[in-house]
Amino acid sequence: MPLHPRLSFDERAKLYKEDETWVGKPFEVTLNPRAMQANTRYMAQTLLDTQLEYRASRAAAFAESLINDIMGAQITAPIACSKGCSYCCNTYVSATIPEVLHLARSLRATPPRVARVQAAAIRAQQIPQAQREASRIPCPMLEDNACSEYMHRPVSCRYLLSTSLPACIRILKDNQAEEFPFAGSVVTIRTSVIIMMKTALILAGLPHQHVELNQALAVALRHDDSESRWLAGEPLFAEVPADHAEQSNQQIGGLVAYFVDLLRPTL
Ligand code: SF4
Repeated sequence: MPLHPRLSFDERAKLYKEDETWVGKPFEVTLNPRAMQANTRYMAQTLLDTQLEYRASRAAAFAESLINDIMGAQITAPIACSKGCSYCCNTYVSATIPEVLHLARSLRATPPRVARVQAAAIRAQQIPQAQREASRIPCPMLEDNACSEYMHRPVSCRYLLSTSLPACIRILKDNQAEEFPFAGSVVTIRTSVIIMMKTALILAGLPHQHVELNQALAVALRHDDSESRWLAGEPLFAEVPADHAEQSNQQIGGLVAYFVDLLRPTL
């Protein structure tokens, strides 16, 4: 039995009309739960719309653009990051499957990148997740120390904004244990977008776990129709290890469960 009955057609139509005020627009994530609900609902509706081609990629592109816009509106601290600096691209990266599929769609057009991803996936299989960060293996998307897939990079790559290059070098090159110099509230913004994505995936009846990026990309690139097969329920990514840290984050899990219960009757 659902906790709350589904809203009537008219109630839902009114709600969707109100959502237009917030959908795809930057908002203060800790102060505007209504905007968070509207954007989550939009992602869920995108994932549920079987008439929409590449709906998983579209939902991922929406989330990626939303985190950019929110950070652009809220992060005012001086940023140390610049093109050609790639210390944070030598670490473990995970993503939701729609983000993987979105990136894979772009990668297919560049065979040398596909070959690098396949090699990186084999290497990733051989290194346990716990050792992966300290291994400092360059991401296969790096070209001349810049992300060759910048427009399609996952949410986890987008929030890593630093206020100190020397600190990044100590942490990400020399493996020193110290707190990462995150700019402003990027961690809270990233957590909020992750909660929205996971909630939308659950509401659409799709797997919501984060998976290791390179192995997941290698699977997605095996088939031209990987997105439609995954959306149809094929467990294409079952062999890819989930991100343990992401899976065991109880704060995120609790908030996702809360939003799922809240939004399910509105779809
Ligand atoms: S996808 Fe791009 S931004 Fe993310 S780790 Fe790889 S090179 Fe860096």
